[in-house]
Amino acid sequence: MLELWAYLNRPIRQALVHVGQCSYANRGRGIQPGSTDSKELRGNGMWIGPLPENLSLIETSTAVQDVFAPAVFGGAGKWNVRPCGHCGAGR
Ligand SMILES: [Zn+2]
Repeated sequence: MLELWAYLNRPIRQALVHVGQCSYANRGRGIQPGSTDSKELRGNGMWIGPLPENLSLIETSTAVQDVFAPAVFGGAGKWNVRPCGHCGAGR
């Protein structure tokens, strides 16, 4: 099963969607050595996941914009949701 994760980058309001096994996602741990906690706000962003695997990129965008980002960062606003260029999740 493909497990999808999204990294929400608050300053640029961009969410990158990865498969969990992507080396940049590492199931919500990212690429920073020693980071073990997922789903915590760290610095400028936060990992969300695992996402429902049957979501399309458009549905993921809607979920990020309407549910996840407001829940984490508060407020509303447009987010740019894109597939990771490395693993290509969400395409
Ligand atoms: Zn990726």
